[in-house]
Amino acid sequence: MTTRLCLLLLAAALLGPASAFALGLPPDSRVPGGVAVIPIADASAPAPQVFYGDRPVLVVNDNGWKAVVGIPLDAEPGPQELVSGERRITFEVMPKAYAEQHLTVQRRYVSPSPEELARIRAEQVRIRAALTHYSQELPGSLRLALPVDGPESSPFGLRRFFNGEPRRPHSGLDLAAPAGTPIKAPAAGRVLDAGDFFFNGNTVFLDHGGGLITMYCHLEQIAVEPGQWLQPGETIGTVGATGRVTGPHLHWGVTLNGAMVDPALFVENR
Ligand SMILES: [Zn+2]
Repeated sequence: MTTRLCLLLLAAALLGPASAFALGLPPDSRVPGGVAVIPIADASAPAPQVFYGDRPVLVVNDNGWKAVVGIPLDAEPGPQELVSGERRITFEVMPKAYAEQHLTVQRRYVSPSPEELARIRAEQVRIRAALTHYSQELPGSLRLALPVDGPESSPFGLRRFFNGEPRRPHSGLDLAAPAGTPIKAPAAGRVLDAGDFFFNGNTVFLDHGGGLITMYCHLEQIAVEPGQWLQPGETIGTVGATGRVTGPHLHWGVTLNGAMVDPALFVENR
């Protein structure tokens, strides 16, 4: 073996898995529902720990340590703060005007009964637990494939009105496809939770590591179980029209550090 090759192998071994991060960083988009990519330290420094509020933030080494921060849709434009040890790092969130969308759905999805309200509250706790989950193992890449081969029917962030009443903004991306179309895992991950939810219908949550969670709603059928590991492209279930919908489609959600962010930021050439 040549000396040069030996040195290259040694360098590769010293760099370790964090430096071998296969890039695929989302574009820096410092708006509500966007992702901020913020340099924290030189590549030679030890891996820093970074918090946004009380939540740990994904940190990757891509020509230096960078925090990849999900910004909540309800974040106020203005200065925001990250904390890393004794350091405070500020960044500015710019305003973004998302369009309005008016939809008509079954009355029960706008005025639920007391029993349905109790169910909704219990499910909100379960959904929050899944979306704020943080596992230490980092994702192999932050690039996600489209889980369904279909056109976008509703973009992320729309300010929504159901039967004329304002409700929470659209916190995912809708992909139109006929009922029964297979939904594929957009990256490797572990099934965190799966079940039937009042608004979201049959739903699956995948954990990709480092606080990157993806969510699949309104499924006709769920094909996976909690705890199961999936390779990219494995089938999660099929497109359906369960829960609060106007027709069959996949609602696809992406969460970073507990913030629902625009899935399109993670998809190549979109
Ligand atoms: Zn949706």
